[in-house]
Amino acid sequence: MKELKFDTLVIGGGSAGMAAALEVSKRGFSVAVVERENSMGGILNQCIHNGFGLHHFNEELSGPAYAEKFIDMVESSNIKVFLDMTVMDMEETGDMKYVYGMSGKTGMIKFCVKTVIFANGCRERNRGSIGTPGTRPSGVFTAGLAQRLVNMEGYIPGKECVIVGSGDIGLIMARRMTWVGAKVKAVIEIQPYPAGLTRNIVQCLNDFNIPLYLSHVVGDIHGKDRVESIDVIPLKNGVEQKDKSFNIICDSLLLAVGLVPDNELAQKIGISINPETNGPIVDRQLMTGKNGIFACGNVLHVHDLVDFVTEESERCGKYAADYMDGKTFSDQYRTVPGQNIKYLVPNFYSPHRDNKFYLRTMIVKNRAELIVSVNGKEIFSKKLKHIQPSEMISFSILEDTVGAEIISECRNNTLEVKIV
Ligand SMILES: Cc1cc2nc3c(=O)[nH]c(=O)nc-3n(C[C@H](O)[C@H](O)[C@H](O)COP(=O)(O)OP(=O)(O)OC[C@H]3O[C@@H](n4cnc5c(N)ncnc54)[C@H](O)[C@@H]3O)c2cc1C
Repeated sequence: MKELKFDTLVIGGGSAGMAAALEVSKRGFSVAVVERENSMGGILNQCIHNGFGLHHFNEELSGPAYAEKFIDMVESSNIKVFLDMTVMDMEETGDMKYVYGMSGKTGMIKFCVKTVIFANGCRERNRGSIGTPGTRPSGVFTAGLAQRLVNMEGYIPGKECVIVGSGDIGLIMARRMTWVGAKVKAVIEIQPYPAGLTRNIVQCLNDFNIPLYLSHVVGDIHGKDRVESIDVIPLKNGVEQKDKSFNIICDSLLLAVGLVPDNELAQKIGISINPETNGPIVDRQLMTGKNGIFACGNVLHVHDLVDFVTEESERCGKYAADYMDGKTFSDQYRTVPGQNIKYLVPNFYSPHRDNKFYLRTMIVKNRAELIVSVNGKEIFSKKLKHIQPSEMISFSILEDTVGAEIISECRNNTLEVKIV
């Protein structure tokens, strides 16, 4: 088997992998990116709608245009990219990591590296994940697969469709299917509020008179070879009102019911996973529980905006370079999600340095307040105009915010974040 030596191996050449690889390379380390598709860009390549890059590039780009800017930077750097290659396995001996990449062209390659960055994204939840009853005809797609079929492969997955889930992916696909000539009969949402951005509700549903059924679920799928119709059941206080169910005739059902970080490989090598994010537990440097192994982007926690993926991954690349330069920080303490917080990333903070946090809330509220405390003493607060579970919140705690008098050697020094 061919063996290659690099300082860092990045798994995945999406927006996270490219941003992280560039930062490591800028610091003079040798970097390899392994990407299983035949081009870099990841999920961006199929997102041909606008809405990318407003924060990072200060301009509104399509997904492929955003990806192209990074692909150009990677191609003019010293980074070595291995396309059409899938990372299959990994092992460690001392400080060295051995990563096995498989490709039809080269066969198996063993990469011998000092650091690994997981940037391999997430996958879609499917029919099995939400337990939708009914027959198993063709015509049931995840929304991301349908997006790929329409935008990249040139197929239209159905003529009359219903979409489950009103997050941004479901909404964007409602508009996309309408634009390619399909009739989108309904968007069904289990929650009593839409999961996506208000601008997407207006531009993707209201502008095309597509009905949105809030507090509704799909009760049954009918059809033998192909989907013929679905039953929709209203919910009252979360309880199914079966006597009020109704039927919609359709030939396809697109499921936009969430994304899950792809963490099988991380778990296989014993990296601890945060059950709230399904991504690895990471410290302030975005390093997993294993020395020299980092994670960023959608494999760490599912992001809504690519700009945040880029920002987080650039920091991850810098931290991996810091690690190789011998800069590690032992003064790290636990962070805990408090009232109304679903998850908080990272899982550790350092009281003596800047810390950047990402979180999701469990509630919908106008005029909320985010409060951070250490050892029960409030150190930071921030007013938030509107919060909802589908919108990620980020904030920074700058160096010296946590005063020396708060940190104590005999306490846990836990940092708690809550929203009221
Ligand atoms: C449908 C959709 C619409 C979106 N719309 C917007 C929007 O309008 N605006 C916005 O800002 N953001 C949007 N986003 C969010 C944003 O684009 C993504 O969060 C971001 O691009 C994810 O980047 P990533 O690198 O973490 O993951 P990905 O882009 O998924 O990249 C992961 C890469 O890893 C590769 N990989 C996986 N496993 C392996 C392996 N074992 N070996 C080798 N390679 C592997 C994959 O092939 C992939 O290329 C959207 C996301 C989706 C899914």
